[in-house]
Amino acid sequence: MPPSSTPAPGHQPSGSQDPPLHRRTVRIVNKRNIQRTAIVSLAVAAAAAGLLLAAWRVFQTDEDPMPHIRTIKDVHVNWLCERGHASQGPGGETPKACWTCGRDAYPAVPFRCSVHGSSAVTFQFAEQEDGQIVPVEVRAPGGDWEPFADGPHCSQCRRLMKREVEDPLERVQRKPVRRKGS
Ligand SMILES: [Zn+2]
Ligand SMILES: [Zn+2]
Repeated sequence: MPPSSTPAPGHQPSGSQDPPLHRRTVRIVNKRNIQRTAIVSLAVAAAAAGLLLAAWRVFQTDEDPMPHIRTIKDVHVNWLCERGHASQGPGGETPKACWTCGRDAYPAVPFRCSVHGSSAVTFQFAEQEDGQIVPVEVRAPGGDWEPFADGPHCSQCRRLMKREVEDPLERVQRKPVRRKGS
């Protein structure tokens, strides 16, 4: 073993500008405890991952991410029929009959055109193979259904619309509510 200069315990010799060595602590830990701690950590991590997965009912596009929501069924939404009758109720992935005229009504979320302002965009959903319910088509008022990945576009100027900050889906995510200046 090569001789090494071991510092004397206690005070450093005066005159030396060497930084004080870190004190080494040696913990004697029961191996079994380590194992148990590791297993518990793993379990906690797995549980957290499971929760994340459960929460991963996602509205999102590359450009303009929608909030992660549990599922459309978990939120109270506005329903809007093809003739513009609005009602409120639990979300659902399938259209329901308008209580006024009987036509198909769809969950509606406020979107904003930078020129023409806010309007309710209706959604159609589909269940994926993995059970996730995702939006597939959107329609701005006065427009046609278009793929959710591309839209929605304002029916008057074709600008891509942005989701309004305040809507039921936003509240699900518990983000602080901000009002946009415009
Ligand atoms: Zn109606
Ligand atoms: Zn517009």
